[in-house]
Amino acid sequence: MTHFSRRTFLSASTAAFALPAAQEAEAAPIIALPQDIAQRDAATVMAVRTVSPVVAMTFDDGPHPSLTPKLLDMLKARGLRATFYLIGNRVVTWPDIVRRIADEGHEIGNHSWSHPNLAKYSDQGVLDQIDRTSDAIFKITGRPPVTFRPPYGSFTRRQRMMLYTNRNLPTILWSVDPQDWRRPGASVVSQRILKGSRPGAIILSHDIQSGTVKAMPSTFDTLTGRGMKFGTISQMMGWPLWQSRRFRRVSAKG
Ligand SMILES: [Zn+2]
Repeated sequence: MTHFSRRTFLSASTAAFALPAAQEAEAAPIIALPQDIAQRDAATVMAVRTVSPVVAMTFDDGPHPSLTPKLLDMLKARGLRATFYLIGNRVVTWPDIVRRIADEGHEIGNHSWSHPNLAKYSDQGVLDQIDRTSDAIFKITGRPPVTFRPPYGSFTRRQRMMLYTNRNLPTILWSVDPQDWRRPGASVVSQRILKGSRPGAIILSHDIQSGTVKAMPSTFDTLTGRGMKFGTISQMMGWPLWQSRRFRRVSAKG
């Protein structure tokens, strides 16, 4: 496992969306300043190595027309932030929910346009899936995702490096997988998340599963009771809050 300095990540902004330095400074309440990142290679993050009691809840495959708003209510009631890896073709179907996610302080990441198995795609096919999704999120929220999560986690090391080189998007995997898509029931989902939630954990779950959303109030409250804080992926990385960043559009090269 290699280590990756914060400086290297901070130098990263996407090729299609450059970050003007003068406007970046708006301070974010950084929860964790990771000394290093647990990852497979320079372009892949699985967890953050930190002694701070902070985990990142990530919700994939939305937005869902009823479950995502329900989850947002739960987060809002507790003042917690999460990261949502959205599917592009759902983003354009439910733009109001996407706007609400951003407005309420959560981070939005890129989870492809149509959720294919990208390991079988050409590089151009991968970039098309990702660019189309980033464009859709940018049009609604005024900012593009700064990280990518591959559907099914299926994305080769070569593809992760290709994406990082071409778009400066790190691939964010996870360290805790409750297998909630198998619908084991809310209490099992909660138990599995609680068991794996050590400092720096990145927790995978799906807000299109009603059992997962149902599991969240007790999961959130138990973790909070243990003194755990909830950070977005950007906060875990030691980056500015996604909402506080200002991006300007430039033409993509290559
Ligand atoms: Zn997914």
